[in-house]
Amino acid sequence: MAFESFEQIVQVCQEKSVSFAEAVIGEDMKDRLVTREATLEKMRYIWNSMLEAGRSYDENRISTSGLVGGDGGRMSHYADSGHTLCGDRMSRVIAQALQMGESNACMKRIVAAPTAGACGVLPAVLIPLFEETKQDCTSSASASEAPVLTEDDFVLSLFVAAGIGQVIATRASIAGASGGCQAEIGSASAMAAGALVFLRGGSCDAIVQSAAMSLKNLLGLVCDPVSGLVEVPCVKRNVIGAVNAMSAADMALAGIKSMIPADQVVDAMKEVGDLMDVSLRETGRGGLAATREAIEITKKIQGISK
Ligand code: SF4
Repeated sequence: MAFESFEQIVQVCQEKSVSFAEAVIGEDMKDRLVTREATLEKMRYIWNSMLEAGRSYDENRISTSGLVGGDGGRMSHYADSGHTLCGDRMSRVIAQALQMGESNACMKRIVAAPTAGACGVLPAVLIPLFEETKQDCTSSASASEAPVLTEDDFVLSLFVAAGIGQVIATRASIAGASGGCQAEIGSASAMAAGALVFLRGGSCDAIVQSAAMSLKNLLGLVCDPVSGLVEVPCVKRNVIGAVNAMSAADMALAGIKSMIPADQVVDAMKEVGDLMDVSLRETGRGGLAATREAIEITKKIQGISK
């Protein structure tokens, strides 16, 4: 895929009267010289891998460092109680983000979207919606409000996410080591927001607006993993990426626009990342990683591994 700007994608959507997903599919076919079926098949494989990663979560598993594990289960049980502040859907989004982040920390198979550290954001917004869709299909009280989605729609939404991630990777970065956490969780959040807007039938412009708003809201987020492990604060940052994506998607669907165009937001993110001190770019030497508690944790981990 070779899109260098959101503007280019929107232009293709308008000129060819195709959806955002179709514009990205067309570009992938051209770029990799593959058929439409081949590109769809590859994305179906990624979607199934994401679902499988969600299913394989084990709430009893703790990471080797002992820093993370079990919170995804705790949140899920709390969601089951029906007494959450955020409501059922958002609580399940939070639980899924924690679960996928913990699975990554526990070395389980996940889908890096766009990176392993940010692997929880996209599935957190998509899997609960997919589960709801399956229930809607079997429920007689279904189909009253939102359009019924098929599994293929979710596969197509991954192309939207991929297109957004590709533009950010081309213009800026998706790596915490070069752009800070804004580049990882921020990018994942933009990808997730766009996928959601697509699934809700939003226009290409609304998809781009959601990406811009979600990225803006996480601008400046530093990368400061305790002990250099992708665990603290990474697992819980997946939650904020997902929740931010949900709110940005709803804002875009409501017709709210970003005052700063999406491509310029990405450029600003690059500039902020370039200005970030190296201690705040995945070196584990600044921010939360430099707190007294984090230093104690690091000493303990090193002691254990000696
Ligand atoms: S803090 Fe750094 S390592 Fe952790 S998710 Fe963010 S970018 Fe990735």
